[in-house]
Amino acid sequence: MNQCNVCDCDFDIEAEGGIDGHFGILPVSFCPTCYACMCDMADQASFREWEGLTDEEIALVCSECAASAHNWNDISFARAIEAKLKEKNT
Ligand SMILES: [Zn+2]
Repeated sequence: MNQCNVCDCDFDIEAEGGIDGHFGILPVSFCPTCYACMCDMADQASFREWEGLTDEEIALVCSECAASAHNWNDISFARAIEAKLKEKNT
């Protein structure tokens, strides 16, 4: 029998499923239910939506560029967009 580290239930890995292993050096076991939940959470974490820019935000970056730089070019515009994207996704 294994004991689940999340919900403390006893479960039989051979008969019911679930998983055991190590978190670093700590031995851990998860019952089938908790293991399934954990997989869902991991999926959600890795599929976290990446935020793009709206047309309004791009227009704003455009006008900021035009207003702040004397001779802004493709590179400085691309950098400004990049900075805005980083801002939204950190
Ligand atoms: Zn459990």
